[in-house]
Amino acid sequence: MIVYKDFIDKYLSDESNFKGNLDTVYIPENVEELKDIVVDCYNKGLHITLRGGGTGLTGGSSPDKNVLISLEKLNKIKSFDKSTERVVIEPCVSLEQLDAYLSNYNYFYPPNPTETKASIAGNVSTNASGARSFKYGATRNFIMKLKVLLCDGTLLTLERGKNFAKDNKLVIKSDDNKTFELDVENIFNTSIKNAAGYYITENMDAIDLFIGSEGTLGIITEIELKVNKKSEHLVGIIAWFENFDDVYKYIANFIQNKEQLTKEDLCPRIIEFYDTNSLMFLREEYSQIPETAKYAVWIEQECELKREDEILSYYYEIISSITSLDDDTWIALTNEEHNNFIKIRHTLPEKTTELVRKLNHTKLSVDMAVPFNRLKDYFEFVENKFKTLSIPSCVYGHISCSHLHCDMFYKNDEEKLIAEKIYSDIIDYGLTIGGTVSAEHGIGKIKREFFYRMYTSEQIDKMKKIKAIFDKKNILDITNLFY
Ligand SMILES: Cc1cc2nc3c(=O)[nH]c(=O)nc-3n(C[C@H](O)[C@H](O)[C@H](O)COP(=O)(O)OP(=O)(O)OC[C@H]3O[C@@H](n4cnc5c(N)ncnc54)[C@H](O)[C@@H]3O)c2cc1C
Repeated sequence: MIVYKDFIDKYLSDESNFKGNLDTVYIPENVEELKDIVVDCYNKGLHITLRGGGTGLTGGSSPDKNVLISLEKLNKIKSFDKSTERVVIEPCVSLEQLDAYLSNYNYFYPPNPTETKASIAGNVSTNASGARSFKYGATRNFIMKLKVLLCDGTLLTLERGKNFAKDNKLVIKSDDNKTFELDVENIFNTSIKNAAGYYITENMDAIDLFIGSEGTLGIITEIELKVNKKSEHLVGIIAWFENFDDVYKYIANFIQNKEQLTKEDLCPRIIEFYDTNSLMFLREEYSQIPETAKYAVWIEQECELKREDEILSYYYEIISSITSLDDDTWIALTNEEHNNFIKIRHTLPEKTTELVRKLNHTKLSVDMAVPFNRLKDYFEFVENKFKTLSIPSCVYGHISCSHLHCDMFYKNDEEKLIAEKIYSDIIDYGLTIGGTVSAEHGIGKIKREFFYRMYTSEQIDKMKKIKAIFDKKNILDITNLFY
């Protein structure tokens, strides 16, 4: 199906507002139709941009030129096998659709990125992650099988655990037995949460190359996911702190003892952080936030109901040994109380979005993760930089993965220059201490400059070489990642 010019505006940018160009939008109804469109573009040498939910924050689905293919109609949940806990879906099933479906069976999909209108294929393409990443990690951990259509019409089926690189060579066979041979080595940093570039390591699983490849290698047409049974009970805890050293001590308990906690079924699934400016935004709605609190950490723990007291004692002991604000700790045990905690979590983006929309600001957001042993240095660097700012800012997010969202809001060109300079300084500092320029949103088009700072030109060339193997005419999402 072709959508004509009048309808094209909606497809010109993703949520980053990075606007591109295009002539035609295709919205295929099934994989056969998709294949016809793609092969036609391949024969004509037309550039293709892929779009799922269009919620990306890096311009990844903002079109390059020529053709945009929106996968919005490939949105069926095909099957759920409870015995293997696997779900098979079409690419554009949204997170909210999947969640509603699984709830009927008392199951859930663990990764939990905040934007529930995002498609699962979009999540796979950016290796999205969310609040539950301490226990569950990113999307990658839950992707068991992918069907991928290459631009020349070739189909690949990639199954986790079936095809690993050996002696720095990865061999992938297509469904019709074509062979793709790739040279691989340790380019991708797997020691931190990372969504920047191709997952290339010397012993990689073939499926991992396509996860996080931002639409540059092939089109995901089917996904098999691993899902989990819902926990019987949840304990939520918000602890308050007067200084960052105490925050660090608190979270170190969980990070340094993760293996043991996992063995004892005590690993928290959510560990989220709010800095002083985030609390300032939150205080507009929650005046009961303790007056002297400068930082907050929200933890969510899955458990059996009978372990509730044990778990509360465990947390109280840690909290009271670290912060003098222990008596102010907030607890959630009932559904209503958990929903309130989730509401608090959503209040921060609501408040900052209000700033962006109503007051006509634009947001610039750093998405770095750094090694845990440098987190204090990183936070201090960012906090000191933000103290010099005359524009609104806040730091919050997935502190257990040493991954903080550092947001700045500017409203004119002068403020934009200031924010861009600070952004660039933070990136440079983060890179010197072993960080990644993107921990969860990917590179897309707007973070390429920083991608090229993170990797050497030799490493970028190796990634480009891999792209050329799967996208022979260089037509697919070609301005994502690379110039
Ligand atoms: C309010 C808000 C909150 C957010 N919170 C989070 C968060 O917590 N965690 C997080 O990780 N992200 C978050 N995001 C960013 C965004 O939701 C994710 O990047 C998401 O993965 C994008 O999915 P999408 O379906 O919207 O993809 P799109 O924006 O449509 O596309 C993203 C990329 O995937 C490619 N793509 C799409 N479909 C396919 C396909 N079938 N095959 C191959 N490539 C494809 C596109 O070409 C593009 O490069 C948030 C965004 C917003 C607006």
